[in-house]
Amino acid sequence: MSVRATLAAALASLAALALASAGLLVVVTARMHESATRLRVAAEAVELAEGAHLALVSIDALAHELSEGGPKALATNLRAREAELRARLDALRSHLSSAEGERLLDEAARDAETYLGARAAGLRPQRASAAHAAFEAARVQLEELVRLNLTGAREAEQTAARQGRAAEGLAVGSAALALAAIAALIAWIRARVLLPLGDIARAIAAYGRGDRSARAAAEGPAELRGFAATFNQMADGLDRQRELQLAFVAAVAHDLRNPLAALKVALARVRPDRPLPPEDRVRHTVEVLGRQVARLERLLEDFLDASRIEAGRISLSVADCDLREVAREAVELFADASPRHAVELAAPPEALRARCDPARVAQVLNNLLSNAIKYSPAGGNVVVSAVREADLAVLAVADEGIGVDLEDRDRIFEPFRRGASARDLPGVGLGLSISRRIAEAHGGRIEIANRPGGGSVFRLCLPAAIQRATGAGTLPAAARSADGDAGGGP
Ligand code: ADP
Repeated sequence: MSVRATLAAALASLAALALASAGLLVVVTARMHESATRLRVAAEAVELAEGAHLALVSIDALAHELSEGGPKALATNLRAREAELRARLDALRSHLSSAEGERLLDEAARDAETYLGARAAGLRPQRASAAHAAFEAARVQLEELVRLNLTGAREAEQTAARQGRAAEGLAVGSAALALAAIAALIAWIRARVLLPLGDIARAIAAYGRGDRSARAAAEGPAELRGFAATFNQMADGLDRQRELQLAFVAAVAHDLRNPLAALKVALARVRPDRPLPPEDRVRHTVEVLGRQVARLERLLEDFLDASRIEAGRISLSVADCDLREVAREAVELFADASPRHAVELAAPPEALRARCDPARVAQVLNNLLSNAIKYSPAGGNVVVSAVREADLAVLAVADEGIGVDLEDRDRIFEPFRRGASARDLPGVGLGLSISRRIAEAHGGRIEIANRPGGGSVFRLCLPAAIQRATGAGTLPAAARSADGDAGGGP
């Protein structure tokens, strides 16, 4: 799982937990509020019922005192108590929620009114048995009401206490759950992110210190596996680059050794302590010296070209050319290069025109020709052909040599890359990469194919010039852009 997905899932879970806890707390506190309201109403009902009971008993006592000749002022007090009794019974009605309570209140109010009515009619209630029964019944019902509401208040109190405990449990539970989730997330980050990250950092540091075998383990979430894989690829690439550089140095040394050895042998013929050899030998020696110096010069040019091209600087001096001429000159140049090879030209009678830098095209063709000779060590025919194919002007070099393995076909166009079967032959692997860049700068390409019956065919394909009445051509886009550098070439 990726770090991003895990963090998103963890945050979503925490948010869901917080929402669920908040929702439950809202429900529980709403219930607690209901219980508290019930408790308050029941407590008020108890207080009202007790007050009504006290008023009823006081009325009875005051009435008894008045009937026994008590002071007349007591009558005022009696009326106040009657009003209080009625007010409390009235107020009680809004404090009752059970049918039982309402029944008791109805009966208590009715009996109290019966009792008060009898007393107002001048009866002596304590003697009139009906009035006395009504007083007793009202008193008992008011006491029942007090008990009933006390029970209700206790129940509401217990419910509120239970709900309070539930709310506490819920709060503590959600806090514990959130803490556990955060702890699990931290443990996950430590084990699955920080430790692999540390491993990658150690591998990078070890590689930086020079341990070329150091690689990062592809462990942990997707991002870190990708990170480790990228570092490993980079380290592999650097190792490959290093191997290539070492191979390049070895190849350069090898290539320099041959002309230098030839120069040494040639120079040894002219010794300061001996008379000069005959003139024809001197001429031959000078010729050998010239050839080897030219070879060294070519080698140096290749290195310079490669570094210029890698730096993105390639210059073309574009002109309207007949590619048959370029091919003819190259064939002439290589005609006597090797006694075991026959170098031939196959060109059409009509001109093969292209807008190109003839020196650069000749450089490519010379490279293809020298490769054709070098990579057919047993000798054979080397055929240079110039043909027009649709809107392409193609120069092809075919040989009967060792050919190019299928898996090497793309690689050999990279700098310092050589084919597997070419290892025993001299070379540094620069010629084709330079040739390809030159072809691309003209808006063309180099193709490669195996030749039926052995050997290979390298084809330089350039955009053919559109024939006009004047015979002038057009410049392909890539060549036009490179044309700005024209004249600044080597
Ligand atoms: P070099 O010849 O110095 O190695 P190049 O860039 O010219 O460098 O060639 C790259 C590789 O392409 C050669 O090492 C060889 O493996 C392969 N190659 C080029 N030309 C031919 C050919 N005519 N026949 C077979 N292999 C070739």
